[in-house]
Amino acid sequence: MLILVVNCGSSSLKYTLFQGEKERAAGLMEKLGGPVSDYTRLVDGIGKDPLRLAVPNHEQAIHLMMDCLLTDGVIRDARDINAVGHRVAHGGPDFTDAALIGERVRNNRIARELAPLHQANYEGIEACVKMMPATPQVAVFDTAFHQTIPPKAYTYALPYRFLTEHKIRKYGFHGTSHKYVAERGARLLGRPIRKLNLITLHLGNGSSLAAVRRGQCVDTSMGLTPLAGVVMGSRCGDIDPAIVPYIMGRENLDVKQVEQLMNKESGILGLSGISNDLREVIKQAKASNTRAQLALEVLAYSIQKYIGAYHAILGGTDALIFTAGIGEKSPEMRKNICAGLAGIGVKLDPSKNRKAVACEMLIHDKKSRIKVAVIPTREEYMIAQETKRILKARQTGGGARIKKVDK
Ligand code: ADP
Repeated sequence: MLILVVNCGSSSLKYTLFQGEKERAAGLMEKLGGPVSDYTRLVDGIGKDPLRLAVPNHEQAIHLMMDCLLTDGVIRDARDINAVGHRVAHGGPDFTDAALIGERVRNNRIARELAPLHQANYEGIEACVKMMPATPQVAVFDTAFHQTIPPKAYTYALPYRFLTEHKIRKYGFHGTSHKYVAERGARLLGRPIRKLNLITLHLGNGSSLAAVRRGQCVDTSMGLTPLAGVVMGSRCGDIDPAIVPYIMGRENLDVKQVEQLMNKESGILGLSGISNDLREVIKQAKASNTRAQLALEVLAYSIQKYIGAYHAILGGTDALIFTAGIGEKSPEMRKNICAGLAGIGVKLDPSKNRKAVACEMLIHDKKSRIKVAVIPTREEYMIAQETKRILKARQTGGGARIKKVDK
C-alpha cells in the first residue's frame, strides 16, 4: 500500500511516500512563492540532484512533486498512490480524531478562521483532491490528540461568550508527535500506556509539553495558537497579557507588528540576540556570553515549571519523554532541565544522557523515581499510520469520531 504524506507550510511543501514501513520517496520544497524555490528529494534513501526553480504556489508544488515521483520511477501513475494523509495544523473544536477529507473538512470554517497562517494546509488538500479525485485523502490534525483535555483545562477566564461565540479556548498543537512518543515511550518502558502517567516534551523550534494520563492528553502548554507555553526559538511563550497593549503603546506598534515581535523576534533569539538555533546559543553560553546563558536559564526554567505543574495534576509521573530537535539531540538541555527536577525525583544517568542522540533510549539513573526517555518523533510516519487507520475504520463501517462541543 502506498501512502503519500503531505505537509504544506506557509512557504514550504514536505512530503513522504510510504510503502508499508519503508520511505520510498521524500522531498522538501522551500521558499515557495519566491523568485527561486529550493527542492531537495530522496528516492529509496538516495539524494537526487537538487532543483532550483520558481514554484509560485502550493498547487504548482504538488504538480512538481508528482512529476518527480513519475520521472524518478517511484510510481507509474498517480493512481498507484492508495491514499494521501495531510498534516492539518488546526482542526478547531469539532474534530477529535483524524478524518476522511470531504465537505466537512474542506469547509471547516472555524478552524480556518482560527488558524489563518495555516491556509497552506488547505491549499495542499485542494491541489491533491484536484489531482487525485478518486484517491481517499485523510486530514490528520495537530489538535486532535488534545481534544480529551477537560473544560477546566481548556477554558480561558475571559467572558464566557468568547468560548461559545468565537471558540476561543486551548487547542494545543504537535498532537501527532505527542501521541507517537507517548505510545512508543510506553513500549520502551515495557508497560501498557493505559497504566502510565507521562509528560511528553516536544522541544524543537516550536515547543510544547503534554500531560498524558493513561494514553489520553489531559493538558498541554500551547493554547489557541502555538504562541503560548514554554519559551521557544523565536516565540515568547507565556507572558503577562497586559504586556501586549503596553508595548503597543510604548513603541507605537500595530497588531501585525506586535504579532511579528512575539512570534519571530522573541524567545531564545530575542533573549540572546544570537539565533533561534539552540546550538549557536549553547556555543556562545560556553564562551561566557551572559545573554546566551540567561536565555538557556529562562528556557529550562519555563519547561521545569510546566513539568512541576503536570506532575501535580497527573497525581505523579511515571516518565518524562523528550523528543524533537532539542529533546532528541541536546544532552546539555536535557541535563539543564532535569537538574531542576531533583525535588520530584528525577535523576539522569549522565553517561546514558550523553549517548542518547537521535535514538530511542532510557536515560535515567536507576535510583530515579521518574523514568526519562528519549524518543525521536516520526510525525510523517504517524500521519501515514493514522491515514491507514481511518481508511480501515471506513471499510469496517466505523469512521472518525466527530463531537459537538461548547454549546
Ligand atoms: P521544528 O520545530 O522546526 O520542526 P526541529 O524539531 O527539527 O524543528 O528542531 C529544530 C531545533 O532543534 C533547532 O532550531 C535547534 O535549536 C535544535 N537542535 C537541533 N540539534 C541540536 C543539538 N544538537 N543541540 C541543541 N539543539 C539542537
